[in-house]
Amino acid sequence: FDQLDGHIWFNGEFVPWKDAKVHVLTHGLHYASSVFEGERAYGGAIFKLREHTERLFESARILGFEIPFTVEEIDQACNSLLKMQGFDDAYIRPVAWRGSEMMGVSAQSNKINVAIAIWQWPSYFKPEERLKGIRLDIAQYRRPDPATAPSKAKAAGLYMICTLSKHAAEAKGYADALMLDWRGRVAEATGANIFFVKDGVIHTPTPDCFLDGITRRTVIDLAKKRNYEVVERTIMPEEMAEFEQCFLTGTAAEVTPVSEIGPYRFTVGEITENLMNDYTNAVQPIKQAAE
Ligand code: PMP
Repeated sequence: FDQLDGHIWFNGEFVPWKDAKVHVLTHGLHYASSVFEGERAYGGAIFKLREHTERLFESARILGFEIPFTVEEIDQACNSLLKMQGFDDAYIRPVAWRGSEMMGVSAQSNKINVAIAIWQWPSYFKPEERLKGIRLDIAQYRRPDPATAPSKAKAAGLYMICTLSKHAAEAKGYADALMLDWRGRVAEATGANIFFVKDGVIHTPTPDCFLDGITRRTVIDLAKKRNYEVVERTIMPEEMAEFEQCFLTGTAAEVTPVSEIGPYRFTVGEITENLMNDYTNAVQPIKQAAE
């Protein structure tokens, strides 16, 4: 990935992709003092750019550091880089981290670095699996209690258990893993939120220890526009036996149907299909401008 063409926005400058390097003693690498975003552009416009940039700033604030740019500057950098890379549809990855000036747990005066990379990432899950629904394992690791980790931040450190869980699932032939929370309740996948459907009603876990995704909120709004009832509540794993449909939501995953979670089976039904279509329409630039 470090050998692609094009440019990366790095601390205010556009540098050739292959030259966007950091030192091995970067604090973010050793101690996970790093936050990031994941955004998508459709037809040359970044969907919900301002919300993503604001979440990046909030994640940094939660980790105790301040991004040395304004929200407007980061938005503009994302838009300029998208044009420069020449993509209409693309994935945008802003990241901010503590640099290499001091080594140790404490890094009070380390420089805060910010970079943005943009590449083409058409499908998060294999397109052929996506249509019939992906298969999820149930992860060994659980989403931590908010008293244990800052779960509202999109922070690199929180992804350690996600990569472990996703790798374990992939080794068994699954596309992803469902993570329970520390209480044993259904939480989310390793990089996407989860929804279920039963008797025409949509159910999704209350996001009290994981990201309340921007896609999650968009899909809830789209469901309400169709007069679907959406219930945010505690969901126990055994309840999955009763659910008929299941889907994931996320910037990268968009709306992805799920056919299987451990011993539980789901079909790709009308509500899932309608919301997949509604989301595809909502992200188009004409719709974005109308909002
Ligand atoms: N949960 C996790 C762990 C994620 O990584 C993501 C992707 N950012 C989401 C949920 C969905 O968030 P969003 O819809 O804002 O992309």
